[in-house]
Amino acid sequence: MAELFYDDDADLSIIQGRKVAVIGYGSQGHAHALSLRDSGVDVRVGLHEGSKSKAKAEEQGLRVVTPAEAAAEADVIMVLIPDPIQAQVYEESIKDNLKDGDALFFAHGFNVRFGFIKPAANVDVALVAPKGPGHLVRRQYEEGRGVPAIAAVEQDATGNAFQLALSYAKAIGGTRAGVIKTTFTEETETDLFGEQAVLCGGTSALVKAGFETLVEAGYQPEIAYFECLHELKLIVDLMYEGGLEKMRWSVSETAEWGDYVTGPRIITDATKAEMKKVLAEIQDGTFAKNWMDEYHGGLKKYDEYKTQDSEHLLETTGKELRKLMSWVDNEEA
Ligand code: NAD
Ligand code: MG
Ligand code: MG
Ligand code: MG
Ligand code: MG
Repeated sequence: MAELFYDDDADLSIIQGRKVAVIGYGSQGHAHALSLRDSGVDVRVGLHEGSKSKAKAEEQGLRVVTPAEAAAEADVIMVLIPDPIQAQVYEESIKDNLKDGDALFFAHGFNVRFGFIKPAANVDVALVAPKGPGHLVRRQYEEGRGVPAIAAVEQDATGNAFQLALSYAKAIGGTRAGVIKTTFTEETETDLFGEQAVLCGGTSALVKAGFETLVEAGYQPEIAYFECLHELKLIVDLMYEGGLEKMRWSVSETAEWGDYVTGPRIITDATKAEMKKVLAEIQDGTFAKNWMDEYHGGLKKYDEYKTQDSEHLLETTGKELRKLMSWVDNEEA
């Protein structure tokens, strides 16, 4: 079973005694910086010249300097910029500002796990990753609660890296809910696998294939959209609240029977065999290498896939139908 840590296991004064730099002010960055500050931590935000986030961070009362200045001032540097650019920002602005005993923190292990960032041996390297989007992390903190987080130590130069990570997690509300101990390898590989095989890739492909099957059989796209995409939210909400059991309790017996007999015909042994191949390509670094090549090669295929799917009948149908749903947030969100 996983090892869990709560408020009583973490000493807030550790992080209160350090100087923290939060590099980036996006989804995670704003949540970490504001909650650290509200927890009495000395925090500055590192943003590149011309960053659109700068005004927002300053408006919210934070001091903004360049990433290099932030890394130089601080002795705990949390990297919260998009994963594909972290290595470059690390080389240009962080690496030479790390001193003996400093700590380099991440919220996702991608760059360290696959060797795009190789920190020197004299610094602590740790991970504190809330299991939720930044806006929820911040809102929960403000309400006196927290989003569960995971924490890991890749390199323990000081011998206190895990206590420092727990202290940081406490300052953003993580230990109020519970922090699970993991490793950079486990966090990175399971995160990539989950989003590719199940959450994003698997679900998108399942929805598209179901929609296409109905439309090709002559059913109206609008009806197919409701059955294969729209209603998914209801099902997922039930699973989230009470697992498969609550979902099956809530749907009809007919739907439950169809679940048992048809699900395994759709997600077959062949699907699971392919999942194992996907996992192997994550573990051996093939996925990471290909993705970084694609990113730094100008995102040509990425843009192609994006355009293709935005023109799919599923998407054009959904765009029209969602106008009928006053409760659904705007298209841009
Ligand atoms: P994001 O895309 O929301 O934010 C990126 C921010 O980086 C921007 O706001 C900008 O201020 C800044 N930025 C961009 N280029 C920069 C540069 N050259 N120098 C300095 N700053 C720059 O990012 P995010 O989704 O918060 O992800 C940050 C990290 O957190 C990633 O490692 C990600 O994997 C991890 N993570 C994210 C979530 C999430 O909910 N989004 C959850 C867990 C972990
Ligand atoms: Mg420093
Ligand atoms: Mg994830
Ligand atoms: Mg991810
Ligand atoms: Mg139905």
